[in-house]
Amino acid sequence: MRLGYTLTRLASASDVSPLTLTDYENGHRQPTDETLLKLAAALSVPVTFFEHDAIEAVPAGAASFRKLSKASATRRDAVLATAALTLEFYATIESRFKLPDPAIPTYDKLAPEQAADLIRRLWTLGDRPISNVMHLLESKGVRLASLNHAYDDIDAFCFYRDSVPYVFLNTSKSAERQRFDAAHELGHLVLHSELEMNPSTSKEREAEANAFASSFLMPKTAVMAQQMSGASVERILVARSFWKVSAMAMTHRLHELGLLSDWQYRSACITLAERGYRRTEPGGIVPETSQLLRKVMFGRDARLTVSDAAEALSLPAAEIRDYVRHLVPVSA
Ligand SMILES: [Zn+2]
Repeated sequence: MRLGYTLTRLASASDVSPLTLTDYENGHRQPTDETLLKLAAALSVPVTFFEHDAIEAVPAGAASFRKLSKASATRRDAVLATAALTLEFYATIESRFKLPDPAIPTYDKLAPEQAADLIRRLWTLGDRPISNVMHLLESKGVRLASLNHAYDDIDAFCFYRDSVPYVFLNTSKSAERQRFDAAHELGHLVLHSELEMNPSTSKEREAEANAFASSFLMPKTAVMAQQMSGASVERILVARSFWKVSAMAMTHRLHELGLLSDWQYRSACITLAERGYRRTEPGGIVPETSQLLRKVMFGRDARLTVSDAAEALSLPAAEIRDYVRHLVPVSA
């Protein structure tokens, strides 16, 4: 699953017949040492990987995914399989370090905007731009990880495991979009923690998480006080740097708050798109990184290096690096 292999593909990669593989899966037969070596090679793991306890899967229903086609579902399952291994990585960290206790409140009865305001008050963030969303989430007990880059068409997602919130971010996006995604996932944790993540209601949930992120990053009263009515594109670009959001998210927020008319909104979007702001963020900020993982992996006194983790989990070092890709400096 982690490699997105079908049984047939694994059979040809390992030179073990599909029937035999099925027998192993069902526990009807035990592989020989020689077969284990073949399977290990085909799956790019050391043979000791198979000596570990079974890994608890992350069910698709745990995360807020949109309805996916069959091909995308295989890709999603690969992402979820990697996520399950990333949880093992965090378990290794927690066997050596004390991580912040989870402190994300549940406001599932509130409208997204109210929930965002309440969290700002609860965490005494005032009306100011949030300096670093990743550091903030980590300080509230959220465990961050990078989602599998082979599948970066899959968006960020989050879920609780044993009351601990995990957020997987697409770290190939611009800094501003990663911040928005992190705030969006916080929205899911706050608003939807109790809900069954049924794909049929995902559209509504996504809209709510976006509304939460927008309010959380650009609080209404503060934006209203900035005299942005009918703002020019240049003015929007100044504001997006202040709030550390994408120019598109800023424009959307201004329209949402009635500070831009429909016509002004559309024309700002067109101008921004022409200047490349739809996909990228010219003149944007430096991406945020993880404080927690940096301390754990680069700590002066105690540290867990990539090779320590790779050995503890019986996985290739490159794979461990992928779990934290762009969240920590590359030399870890
Ligand atoms: Zn979402």
